[in-house]
Amino acid sequence: MIKGVRGAPDILPDESGKWQALESVARDVLDRYGYAEIRTPIFERTELFVRGIGEATDIVEKEMYTFDDRGGESLTLRPEATASMIRAYAEHNLGAKSSLVKLYLIGPMFRHERPQSGRFRQFHQVDVEAIGLPGPAVDVEVVALLHHLLEAWGLRGMRLHLNSIGDPACRPRYREAFLEYLGAHREALCGDCHIRMTKNPLRVLDCKQPGCRAVASEAPALSGYLCDACRAHFSEVCASLDALRIAYEVDERLVRGLDYYTRTTFEFLNPALGAQNAVAGGGRYDGLVEELGGRPTPSIGFAVGEERILTSLAVQAGPVETPPITGVYVATAGAVELRPAMELTQILRRRGLRAALDLEGRSLKGQLRQANKDRFRYSVILGTEELARGRVTLKDMIGGAQQEVPLAEVADRLAALPEREIV
Ligand SMILES: [Zn+2]
Ligand SMILES: [Zn+2]
Repeated sequence: MIKGVRGAPDILPDESGKWQALESVARDVLDRYGYAEIRTPIFERTELFVRGIGEATDIVEKEMYTFDDRGGESLTLRPEATASMIRAYAEHNLGAKSSLVKLYLIGPMFRHERPQSGRFRQFHQVDVEAIGLPGPAVDVEVVALLHHLLEAWGLRGMRLHLNSIGDPACRPRYREAFLEYLGAHREALCGDCHIRMTKNPLRVLDCKQPGCRAVASEAPALSGYLCDACRAHFSEVCASLDALRIAYEVDERLVRGLDYYTRTTFEFLNPALGAQNAVAGGGRYDGLVEELGGRPTPSIGFAVGEERILTSLAVQAGPVETPPITGVYVATAGAVELRPAMELTQILRRRGLRAALDLEGRSLKGQLRQANKDRFRYSVILGTEELARGRVTLKDMIGGAQQEVPLAEVADRLAALPEREIV
């Protein structure tokens, strides 16, 4: 038997309900904040991600699923959603209709990760982008939205880390000071960080090697180098979050390595998850649209890992909820043919009820046992003698009471029951 690819798990029937619930809560909350769904293809021209994520990143260097299609063009399965969403925004000129365009995308992403590290090669994200305004009010609304979303999913104990990474006016000065500091501690850094120093020095702050971490912890802080405009932007964001009573911690180590990221950067962490504890992260990227060839357009967004959310919920969960008892099981007794049962079942389903019938030729006793097992609230039993009189037996599967009712009325009566009784 051929097996699935490692790191690309199936979502099985008894798990898919959790995914549906997660995504329907997301759609509901995003709708309230005025976000509209966009669905972009799962593959794009490779160049989009090389420019949109950055050449000197692990994603582009090591993790992309890149292939030549039959026409010889290099394509890549999307490793994240922002670049695709920005491409679609610019390509379809969505900014012409509105100065602030709010988009979300829910779907699978693909990265060639090592599955043994607990990461997936196909994983799922909810990605949110607010395109068009420089903030800081938009920044605050986006962080508040993410905060609300995590709460709506039922997550507890999340911690918000917040930072400003400056902009092209002030970051070069910091970069210079940071490089000078790194140069003085070169021997303590790992080989990868020596390469990062030339390509993308801020990424040294992300390195997990103990030597590099020690150097990074003593490094000059970016906050000391922010220009007045960046400083004002950040304090406005902080003051508004205070006013909304959203708790945060300023985290000077929270940086993004790419030049088009600007100012506000944030991450929600779940301390209960251990080493990989970020459940959602985002930030402002005022230079990205231009980097992809569009008009300069300030934007901010975030991505939430759906697997991380479900793991977080599982870690904090109490006992598993049993599904409610609902709907109608249509059973046949004795020599009754299946056809009238099928007809009634279809009628009930069209009336909006969950309904089932036996397709396996079980005895009446076996059918009622199945009805209990599948958590049906009522059974309708079709017997030869009653059916000849145009009547059926309606059985309450909780109380056990049963009564004869006309076949012609049974669907109306069941559909008219109060929702808590039947749906
Ligand atoms: Zn290092
Ligand atoms: Zn600045």
